[in-house]
Amino acid sequence: KYKILVEGVHKTYLLGTTAVPALRGMDVKIKPGEFLGLMGPSGCGKTTLLNLIGGLDYPTRGKIYLDGKDMSLLDENQLADLRRDNIGYVFQFYNLLPLLTALENVMIPLHFQGTLSRRARKRKAMELLKLVKLDERSHHTPSELSGGEQQRVAIARAFANDPSIVLLDEPTGDLDSKTGIEILNLLRDLNRKGATFISATHDAAVSEYCTRIIHIRDGKIVKGLEVSGLKETD
Ligand code: ADP
Ligand code: ADP
Repeated sequence: KYKILVEGVHKTYLLGTTAVPALRGMDVKIKPGEFLGLMGPSGCGKTTLLNLIGGLDYPTRGKIYLDGKDMSLLDENQLADLRRDNIGYVFQFYNLLPLLTALENVMIPLHFQGTLSRRARKRKAMELLKLVKLDERSHHTPSELSGGEQQRVAIARAFANDPSIVLLDEPTGDLDSKTGIEILNLLRDLNRKGATFISATHDAAVSEYCTRIIHIRDGKIVKGLEVSGLKETD
């Protein structure tokens, strides 16, 4: 019944011969459809936790289950399939490919899935751009778009594979507060379609949109706080 189960997870990086503990015993239970916020100071381990749940790296100790399946049993290829077919990533907006148009950027995941014809990929990418209200800008490259528009392209791209889990790292990071709110309203609408969202953030505005916040310090949870975000109130 949990979408994601994080059990006793530790992650220690090695920098040369120095061990850098990033997560020091994390336990988190995440239900389907939650919009979970990870808050805490820079360096507390938020990105590390997103990377582990997203199958981009392995825990040093402990287990993560997605839909009841133990991720540690998956090899690199199976993790790659999982990322391609089940997970959407909204990291920083500058990870759009600069030489490609908005439409082409959104088509990338569809290309890797290899299930749709080029025409169908184009049609689906256009629908996704419409969803984030950028269909008028489909032929612009990232440098011709504002920060908020680039982030909307990144969100459209993250949804191209119909992910059941969406991982967000500072989704409003470089945006002014008005643009940030627009992005959050968009994310809330997308979350309501049913995918489970996990967002690392420093931004108090983001936390208002979360269904639950976990506060992290030095790789550990300091408190779990139920909040009724805007999700419930309007
Ligand atoms: P946050 O996202 O909360 O800022 P991170 O997960 O990025 O925190 O980092 C947690 C800790 O792990 C920090 O001390 C950071 O310097 C360290 N760290 C993160 N990634 C690496 C890495 N690839 N190699 C070594 N240390 C890392
Ligand atoms: P955040 O914006 O969440 O704070 P960071 O700036 O800490 O993220 O990290 C950005 C990227 O750099 C992440 O992919 C993280 O794994 C990596 N990283 C963070 N700290 C280190 C480090 N000390 N050594 C190597 N890589 C790091």
